[in-house]
Amino acid sequence: MKTVIVTGSTSGIGLGIAESFARAGHNIVLNGLGKSDDVEAIRARLAALGEGKVIFHGANMLKPDEIADLVKTTETEFGSVDVLVPNAGIQHVEKIEDFPLAKWDAIIAINLSSAFHLIRAAMAGMKTRKSGRIIAIASAHGLIASPYKSAYVAAKHGILGLIKTVALEGAEFGVTANAICPGYVETPLVTGQIADTAKTRNMSEEAVISDVILKAQPTKQFVTVEQIAALALFLASDQAAQITGAALPMDGGWTAQ
Ligand code: NAD
Repeated sequence: MKTVIVTGSTSGIGLGIAESFARAGHNIVLNGLGKSDDVEAIRARLAALGEGKVIFHGANMLKPDEIADLVKTTETEFGSVDVLVPNAGIQHVEKIEDFPLAKWDAIIAINLSSAFHLIRAAMAGMKTRKSGRIIAIASAHGLIASPYKSAYVAAKHGILGLIKTVALEGAEFGVTANAICPGYVETPLVTGQIADTAKTRNMSEEAVISDVILKAQPTKQFVTVEQIAALALFLASDQAAQITGAALPMDGGWTAQ
């Protein structure tokens, strides 16, 4: 039984990953924003899926001290952090000349710096135990760019640099670090983006889905949360011990173009 922290696991991809690890019998530390009743309902539902214990820690990914406490609380409660999934993320779509400064700062903090703070806090324990898996949820936008997403693309490219560096530092200590780079997944993050992109590009929402989003993915299908969770489970397994420092696209062929 492993202990798994998934940040931003009250919704979307993070929730799907937490669910899959819970079903596989691991201890889960949920994290993210949400009303306490909703969060408790998620916690109780996941706890019923497997043998592991499921707890929630409300660390705000904008706050380094709360992130450090998330890792410390997990180590105190379960004795270790075996799998760390920096996943929490936000998006804002706007021309760079109009891009709000506060949005730039928040996206860099939540989508990039929070992963640094998490790994910084968890790495010593992983190295001491000679075992650890770090699985960052980056994006196809870690590999390529799209217009109007300057902060997001910068943060996701940054995550890949961070993961490669951590992979080298952990290589002789049984600690692997990888990034999954999904294409478009139908989650609240993308649903919001459809509306924003429609406004920015002066298009209908239907046209954004067909001409912007699914146009980017040769398969013309959204990636599913379950598919990403299955890859995360594999990366956490013994069979994945030699995969480290990798950016693994799951994007319907988007970045092959
Ligand atoms: P989502 O909006 O469904 O979930 C985001 C999660 O992050 C939520 O649980 C939210 O509460 C949490 N979060 C946001 N701000 C936070 C903060 N300050 N502190 C703590 N938690 C916070 O989005 P999603 O689509 O599931 O995205 C998850 C990750 O996957 C993000 O890093 C995103 O960039 C990445 N991603 C998403 C897609 C996609 O198409 N949906 C594609 C590629 C990568």
